Amino acid sequence: MKRDPMKWFPWLLLLISDVLASTTDKPVGGSAVELMKKTPLIDGHNDLALRLRILYQNRLSKINLKTLNTTVTNIQKLQSGYVGAQFWSVYVPCSAQNKDALRLTLEQIDVVKRMCQTYQELELVTTSQGIADSKKIACLIGIEGGHSIDSSLAALRMYYDLGVRYMSLTHTCNTPWAESSSKQVHNFYPHVNGLSSFGKEVVKEMNRLGMMIDLSHTSDSTARMVLNISRAPVIFSHSSAFSLCNHSRNVPDDILRSLKQNNGIVMVTFHAEVLACGRKVVTVSTVADHFDHIKKIAGSRSIGIGGDYDGVDCFPEGLEDVSKYPVLIEELLRRGWTEIELKEVLRENFLRVFKEVEKEQHDSRSMNENENEIPQGEVQNPCRLDLRNNALQTAGVFPTSSGFYFVVQTLDLMFITVIYVILH
Ligand SMILES: [Zn+2]
Repeated sequence: MKRDPMKWFPWLLLLISDVLASTTDKPVGGSAVELMKKTPLIDGHNDLALRLRILYQNRLSKINLKTLNTTVTNIQKLQSGYVGAQFWSVYVPCSAQNKDALRLTLEQIDVVKRMCQTYQELELVTTSQGIADSKKIACLIGIEGGHSIDSSLAALRMYYDLGVRYMSLTHTCNTPWAESSSKQVHNFYPHVNGLSSFGKEVVKEMNRLGMMIDLSHTSDSTARMVLNISRAPVIFSHSSAFSLCNHSRNVPDDILRSLKQNNGIVMVTFHAEVLACGRKVVTVSTVADHFDHIKKIAGSRSIGIGGDYDGVDCFPEGLEDVSKYPVLIEELLRRGWTEIELKEVLRENFLRVFKEVEKEQHDSRSMNENENEIPQGEVQNPCRLDLRNNALQTAGVFPTSSGFYFVVQTLDLMFITVIYVILH
């Protein structure tokens, strides 16, 4: 029987399309995974600690972090995602500003430290060498929002002593000394533009201490002022490109160019809203577009990754939890990013920034601690006790001249009363 070749043509097409589909749908593996095994990711921002507070009141004894499934972060998923180091955010909401932000921040530092000491898969480190040497998932601590220092350089220094290695200058509220990109969310200090004089002192003290300055959530004007005065590279721990999504959280091209000059990095976030500005379909490709754009403007040496997992609820399709980082790396490989560029993005760019920040600390070792205080009038906090001499007197801590006058008056009155009684 003679066979008609055209009869088989549709089947052949089907076979070819199946083969193509199987190559695009294949599980992530191959070169992306091989690359990440050799170069585990350093991620700039994860809000698991916030979830631990909200869901479990920081009671680690109630959960198993290896398999926790009420969050998108757990230890098994971090391992599957080839995460080598994680900055844990010790974030407290802006509504705690002028109230108990400092206590709440200390409690978040406590839970991160306990978490990293409890699980043998984790290890708290505080230096670039510590990350490089760690055979575990290295844990680092970052503060998200300058309201956590309550306008105190002494508090900033104590946070450094506790292991904090970056601080975002603002979250979604102005502090008395720095302007936020989302200052309309709260009504704190509406007249602050960019950095105040005290804000500049904060930046200089962070340079001296060797604490990285994080500009995610700050206004563009704050970011530009910091980039002008910082003696060390800065980071955006979880932001993306403003040219692709004009969200106030994102970095405009002129700041990307300044960032390149500064030798700093923007760690691209996976927060769907910040990536796609409300578009319904947000995929790995949407994230990769931000990588391509930032590379075009500032080069691949200005990029890192700051997933913001557990900080928001909506992530791109395919990047739903911390095990999915290889999916992004595979997409970037497919787009022609070289292994050398991706090693930089995964790890080396961040380590370069951290080492330069540490070098600035080393070079500043002859400088004394900054003993300046924020002018009292710039902080609108009724709970703030002013312990300068005059203020101590009005606070009633020490006997005051008016108090002394009151005692004298009382004694006078008693003396007059006694004389009156005797005479009558
Ligand atoms: Zn954030």
